[in-house]
Amino acid sequence: KISESENCFYQFYNSTMNSQNSVTLKLESFLHDALEKDEFILYYQPQINVKSGTIQGVEALLRWQHPELGLVSPTSFINLAEQTGLIVPIGQWVLKTACQQNKIWHSQGFPPLRVSVNLSPLQFKQPDFPLVVSRILEETQLKPNLLELEVSASTVMKDLEYSYHMLSQLQSLGVYISIDDFTTSYASWERLKHIPFDTLKINRDFVRQLKNDPQDLAIISAMVSLGRGFNLRVVAEGVETLQQIELLRSQNCEQMQGFWFSRPLAAEEATKLLPFDYNVL
Ligand code: C2E
Ligand code: MG
Ligand code: MG
Ligand code: MG
Repeated sequence: KISESENCFYQFYNSTMNSQNSVTLKLESFLHDALEKDEFILYYQPQINVKSGTIQGVEALLRWQHPELGLVSPTSFINLAEQTGLIVPIGQWVLKTACQQNKIWHSQGFPPLRVSVNLSPLQFKQPDFPLVVSRILEETQLKPNLLELEVSASTVMKDLEYSYHMLSQLQSLGVYISIDDFTTSYASWERLKHIPFDTLKINRDFVRQLKNDPQDLAIISAMVSLGRGFNLRVVAEGVETLQQIELLRSQNCEQMQGFWFSRPLAAEEATKLLPFDYNVL
């Protein structure tokens, strides 16, 4: 459960982030200490194929287990981590921890599961990032095809040529690439035409506003068929209601992630879900 205090933290941080004053420096050192003290933890949220009823993968989501504030959401500290560059070592910790956990699940005999890890824009900008990924795969002995890297659509579109090269290198390691927070604008399809990736995640704001009207249904249908044409896996995120599930399914969108199925869970809790079948639908 994300605590109330997290909000205070966020407002506090927001009011100070523009000035390099002592408070900002203090927050920076808190984040640095958090890494040192091993206060970060990953939660995992399943991605379900509603047709087969099985869990296809899990998305790893970062939390800060703060001794006083409780469980702090990434939205409260990711920006600060990004601005201070701390996201680079934090991101490496995330990648390694997610790979280790998936290796554990794999060796426990669960069906192969893909773990998705979010990349920050700054991580994505590191030219040596593919080396980092291959080193972590080596260290954790996780098969590359059990790892997926999520980059937001806006990050990818900032520099298409760079993205093309970075994503090609990552794909050649054998890992999967997912474009996160995809919006419905035609421009994004046009621009992503030559970009190598495997999965497209429909922005949760779109899913939240989904209505049973011809326009919305046409948009989902278009996204699904474009996804098919691009040979992509299409995942709708932020699915909270049975009505959303039914609308998505009616347009052949079969992969979903959201609170309706499960909130993000600590590894131990997530493990209990893995044998579970969502065939009830
Ligand atoms: P995201 O990658 O788009 O992750 C999905 C967010 O939607 C998660 O928020 C998840 O908890 C939330 N969510 C999932 N299902 C539902 C639902 O049914 N309803 C609603 N309202 N929300 C749902 P979370 O965990 O707070 O993460 C927020 C963002 O922080 C992520 O968005 C991602 O951009 C970033 N983030 C999380 N972990 C990491 C990380 O390890 N590294 C980096 N760089 N960014 C991360
Ligand atoms: Mg830890
Ligand atoms: Mg994501
Ligand atoms: Mg997203």
